[in-house]
Amino acid sequence: MKTQKLYYEDCHLREFSATVTGCVQTQEGYLVTLDATAFYPEGGGQACDLGKLGNANVLDVREDGEEVLHLCDGPLEVGQQVCGCIDWGRRFDQMQQHSGEHILSGLIHKTFGYHNVGFHVGKEAMEVDFDGPISWEELCRLEQLANEAVWRNLPVQWNYPAPEELEKIPYRSKKELPWPVRIVTVPGYDTCACCGVHVAQTGEIGIIKVLSCVKFHQGVRIEMLCGKRAFDYLSAVYEQNRQVSQLFSAKRLETGAAAKQMSEQLTAEKYRSAGLEKQLFRGIAESYVNQGDVLHFEQTLSAAAVRELADAIAEFCDGVAAVFSGSDESGYSVCMICKNGDVRELGKAMNEKLNGRGGGKPGSFQGSVKATRKQIEEFFNNR
Ligand SMILES: [Zn+2]
Repeated sequence: MKTQKLYYEDCHLREFSATVTGCVQTQEGYLVTLDATAFYPEGGGQACDLGKLGNANVLDVREDGEEVLHLCDGPLEVGQQVCGCIDWGRRFDQMQQHSGEHILSGLIHKTFGYHNVGFHVGKEAMEVDFDGPISWEELCRLEQLANEAVWRNLPVQWNYPAPEELEKIPYRSKKELPWPVRIVTVPGYDTCACCGVHVAQTGEIGIIKVLSCVKFHQGVRIEMLCGKRAFDYLSAVYEQNRQVSQLFSAKRLETGAAAKQMSEQLTAEKYRSAGLEKQLFRGIAESYVNQGDVLHFEQTLSAAAVRELADAIAEFCDGVAAVFSGSDESGYSVCMICKNGDVRELGKAMNEKLNGRGGGKPGSFQGSVKATRKQIEEFFNNR
């Protein structure tokens, strides 16, 4: 039996009463049909409504021909009058996203003639795909125009044009659709074949924000947000910027320049400290001239610096240069270098005795050990 679609008659209807016309038990739950419903079934990229029917939770809503099927977690008696209540937060979010997408897609279609070839309302952002290239600057200009459509608070209209009338309408998504075709119009901005539930006035969309635009197949994939989602996202971004502004003592609209300056300073400091480290390592290495095997400890060197220091010492010591850096608590990273010998056996023995991990080539071994400095010293003294 055909279900009366209350969601099309009043997009703000949150509660309704209807008569149960069918209830079939399946493996998933109970498939309930009603004579009328405000529950939107999934379609056109828009997620279905959730909520309650009587005491049962509505877990999914689907369309089957002219009927809307409500998947419920409990049975409902056929013939019974039942109250339906939809999860309004979820529905309004879907309407804000979908209507905002129509406005931007309409503007892109008007400007470039591109088609929306993919639409998905994700958990975080909407993804919309277009079949042609759009630059970031062009997109920002259209985003501005899209928001003007929101501020103008235009009515979002829909109708089912007669077949001969439909042929003359230049609407988006023009493909072979079974008649009747539902046409959704934002006057001056968009005309599109769509089965979704939209806001009644564009002002309800609140805000339209584009987050990114990347190359995708022959066109682009745009990430965007509307309404409360956009507000929440921009608030979170604002909070991040507020923290960065405080850390850098930069004005809120100058954090980018401050971060760039800090990054350049950091790079310069890295080069400077690498130069100083090299000098320092050479000084240490020279103190081990012709000393044979060397065991040397440091506290805070990176694994790469441990390697560099071991390399430097090996140039002078004429034996195995073993450098450890770390602490008894955290363990040590280690590098052993021997210019004219093989340290693989030594490395293997060390892995066993000192709870180590690592390996290398004949002349070099790199890894880490979980042992104390005393244990390391004993291992080298007794080998
Ligand atoms: Zn649509």
